[in-house]
Amino acid sequence: MTFKSSLIGHQPQRESIRRLFEKGKFPSTVLFAGPAGIGKKLVALEVARSLLCENGMFSGCGKCKACRLVDAGNFPDFYLIECADRERWNVEQIKELLYSLNLTSCFSRGRVIVFNDAEFLHIASANALLKSLEEPRANTWFILVSANPSKLPPTVLSRSQTWFFNPLAHEEVQHIIAELKDEIEGLPLSLDELVVLADGAPGSITAIKDHSLEWMDLKVTMSAIHGGDARRAVSFASEISKDKEDLRERLTLLRIYARHRMYETPQDSLWALCVTNLIAAERLIFERNLNAQYVLSNVLLNLVSSADLNSFTTLTNSAKLLERIVV
Ligand SMILES: [Zn+2]
Repeated sequence: MTFKSSLIGHQPQRESIRRLFEKGKFPSTVLFAGPAGIGKKLVALEVARSLLCENGMFSGCGKCKACRLVDAGNFPDFYLIECADRERWNVEQIKELLYSLNLTSCFSRGRVIVFNDAEFLHIASANALLKSLEEPRANTWFILVSANPSKLPPTVLSRSQTWFFNPLAHEEVQHIIAELKDEIEGLPLSLDELVVLADGAPGSITAIKDHSLEWMDLKVTMSAIHGGDARRAVSFASEISKDKEDLRERLTLLRIYARHRMYETPQDSLWALCVTNLIAAERLIFERNLNAQYVLSNVLLNLVSSADLNSFTTLTNSAKLLERIVV
């Protein structure tokens, strides 16, 4: 997927990067950390253009040979390594690339190596990278991009200057998604719904597409539960707990939906409680191995307005129990 729009958002980080760049003090190794799909890689590409542009312009002039070739992915001194593609970028290839940095660069300004999704680097590749980081060369910059930096070896982390990136603002996501006409064509979702689902990360649009039908069902079910259908709460919990592989993604969708409703009706505290409980549920299920169906039944029963729960005394009691275990 490509973003046709220019880079949107992340102003504070880009501003501090620009200041360092203008002083000629951009660090030789940086880590861009933050949730997936928010545009960290695009910022890395902006930095690469800045560092390599023949006219020395921040963000690149867009006209010189270096800028044009970086954009086309054909610049000999610019490497974009998609670490998740371990076949394309296996250990040998990464070692070879790092070794080639010892040779003279093709163009005079320097070399930029971006490791996208760096948490997927094979440990042997990470060790080879570490060697390169330990012996910095002039005008060679490494940019690691990761949504899960804790999975990188501490030795690599300690040699990188970290910038944290946040999810994009509602208006920024709206702007980006509106431009992705081809991507969203034919989806049964409104632009507003897509923006809610993107949850600050427009890069997740492909995953959103995969979930569009599920989202429609989920909306109906959650509204029914909130409207008083306690039986549905229990059966829905049983339904979604069956497949533990998909459960994490489903919990994310549920949380996004509950948060959306929370913002829509801030006076209704049940949605806010549901968001908190869903966050806790994920921890209880995946970290403490509690029974998913049991935990989710309780989360969803807590969403049923209490007046309608009279016939579900036992279940209400277990919902109270959840309040005690969700700390
Ligand atoms: Zn340029």
